[in-house]
Formats: sequence, C-alpha cells, structure tokens
Amino acid sequence: MTVTTNIHNLRSSIPPGVTLIAVSKTKPNEAILEAYNAGQRDFGENYVQELVDKHEQLPKDIRWHFIGHLQSNKIKYIAPFVHLIHGVDSFKLLEEINKQGKKHNRVINCLLQVFIATEETKFGLAFDECQSILTSGEFQKLPNINICGFMAMASNTEDETQIRHEFRSLKDFHSKIQQTTNTELSTLSFGMSSDYKIAIEEGSTMVRIGSLIFGERDYKSS
Ligand SMILES: *Cc1c(COP(=O)(O)O)cnc(C)c1O
Repeated sequence: MTVTTNIHNLRSSIPPGVTLIAVSKTKPNEAILEAYNAGQRDFGENYVQELVDKHEQLPKDIRWHFIGHLQSNKIKYIAPFVHLIHGVDSFKLLEEINKQGKKHNRVINCLLQVFIATEETKFGLAFDECQSILTSGEFQKLPNINICGFMAMASNTEDETQIRHEFRSLKDFHSKIQQTTNTELSTLSFGMSSDYKIAIEEGSTMVRIGSLIFGERDYKSS
C-alpha cells in the first residue's frame, strides 16, 4: 500500500520529461510488484546477481537499469536484457560492453558516469576524460553501444548550495559538449531521494529514487 502511495506522490511531483527510476536494490520482489502494479516500469539495481535473479522472476516488460559499479567480467550476465547501464567510467568498459552487445546482437545503451562530487570515494570520469572519449571518435567504432548521456552523484552533504552547484557543473558540461559532438546525449541521470528536487531544477532527465519509494534499506538482513 505505501509503495503505491509513494509512487503516486512522486509521479505528481516529477515533470513529464523526467523518467523516474525506482531503485529496488535489496528489496524483495513483492515490493517491486507493488510498484509495477502502480504503473512503474523502470527499475534500478546495483548488483549483477540480484539484477539477473529479479529479471528472471519478474514481468518481462520491466526496463532494468544497472546503476552500480560494473566489473567487466560481469557484463555478460546483464548484456542480454539490460535497458541502460548508468555507471560507465572507462573506455575499456565501453569496449567490453560493445563486445557483449555484439554477442547478443543488441545495441546497449550506456551513460558515462561523471565525477562531480568533492569526496574522493565516488567513481566516475573527470570532465576532461569524458570529453576525450566523446571527441576522439574511437567510441564511434563501437557499433553495439549507444552513449545516451551522463550519470552523476552529488556529494553526500546537507549543503544544498553545494549539491546544486555540482549538478549545475554537469549540466554546463553537457551543454558545452553537445556543441562539439554530433552524438545525441539526451539523458542526464542525477538526483536521488534526498536531492531529486534540486536535480530536476538543474536539468536532470532521470531521477533514481530508492528509499522514498521502498523505505530505508536494511543491509544487515539481506
Ligand atoms: C542506491 C542508489 C540510489 C537510490 O538512493 P536513495 O537515496 O535510496 O534514493 C540512486 N543511485 C545510485 C547510484 C544508488 O546506488
């Protein structure tokens, strides 16, 4: 019941151009089905094995987003079905995804993960690394991947000014890079439960929301 209510409430506060990803990591299939029955079709997972299991067990029209840190030896497990891989942080990973895409005769959608936070623990490419991937033309030789935009995470802070500033730096980079490449980079994946409103104000087109839909995660029992 609450999942349904949470989905409806979020829907009414998210503009039509922004895709809501329900982040269901560590959550049971029943909770996912409740969101599904409320009309939700995009779900995000961080762990490969969990994603593979849920894909097997749940309705086939779910669009599965991989939002975690992807190791190249695990791409093969999600390549047959994944809708969008959010956290691509190296050219080598793009090459591996391309290889697996080819095996499964698919073009796999990817987002480059950009580092915008001040913390040193977060994964991601620096702006200049991103730029060199996109302008070198090397990725154009990879026919089984499609780079659709960028993913980022703001610093884990209460300071809204800083969060806004970090999101804005990505949006500015995006506007700049759009003019120098002829790739359509239409997707900007940023914003989570705590900062999605700021993210939308700063130009996000895809918000990844877990705890506001499913409640807090309990890692101990999973
Ligand atoms: C877990 C996770 C989310 C969702 O976090 P909430 O704070 O629960 O909304 C979003 N993005 C990524 C990359 C995550 O790992």
